[in-house]
Amino acid sequence: MAIKKKQIVSYPIEVLRPVRDYLSEKLFGLEKRKKELSREDPFSDKSRLLDNAAVDADAAEKVGHMQVFALKQVADKSIIQIRKALTMIKIGKYGVCEKCGKMIDTDRLMIMPEITICVSCEKKREK
Ligand SMILES: [Zn+2]
Repeated sequence: MAIKKKQIVSYPIEVLRPVRDYLSEKLFGLEKRKKELSREDPFSDKSRLLDNAAVDADAAEKVGHMQVFALKQVADKSIIQIRKALTMIKIGKYGVCEKCGKMIDTDRLMIMPEITICVSCEKKREK
């Protein structure tokens, strides 16, 4: 009887290509969104340094800034995640958990193509 090897199969390029295209497109969209957010940030408005805005307006600006900041952080996190997944594709390790080295469930990858860790490792991390 043959010894059962650790099952690590890399995905064929036909499978990876659409994933890579999808992720690249998503990354492009996110970077665009981030630039838009920078423009929406009231703190990046240089004219604000010159006007003597009322306290109310100032508070609204702060809230606006916080919202933009939070949205930017979310975008940043996704950008990092997608870049990581794209690197995994490049080095031929896409679909392999970066923590334990096991194959990530394909159902999971279908839902979240940018994911680079398996369910059990994610659960461990959440603890
Ligand atoms: Zn894992």
